[in-house]
Amino acid sequence: MTYVIVSLCQRDALCVEVCPVECIVEGNPEDEWPTYMIDPDNCIDCGACVAECPVDAIFPDDEVPEEFTAAIELNARFYSEGPGYDAA
Ligand code: SF4
Ligand code: SF4
Repeated sequence: MTYVIVSLCQRDALCVEVCPVECIVEGNPEDEWPTYMIDPDNCIDCGACVAECPVDAIFPDDEVPEEFTAAIELNARFYSEGPGYDAA
């Protein structure tokens, strides 16, 4: 499992500060990667980021609301094909 950031993200970086494994990166460039992104391979499913997010933009991958499910693939692709950690 992993956690996923959806398009509700306001890009305020609060989640980054609490992630114990530093697997959340700012999506850059913003027009291509509009949210912060969670690396599904490194997320340890601790849930700490969820409590920090002021707009409730972070979900476990099996609880992502239907209208936001494209974000699951987008977060993963940011790391597999996009800039990933190099965007930080
Ligand atoms: S669930 Fe934990 S490990 Fe995963 S992105 Fe959030 S804070 Fe980081
Ligand atoms: S805390 Fe929420 S709004 Fe802020 S960057 Fe993280 S996911 Fe986006």
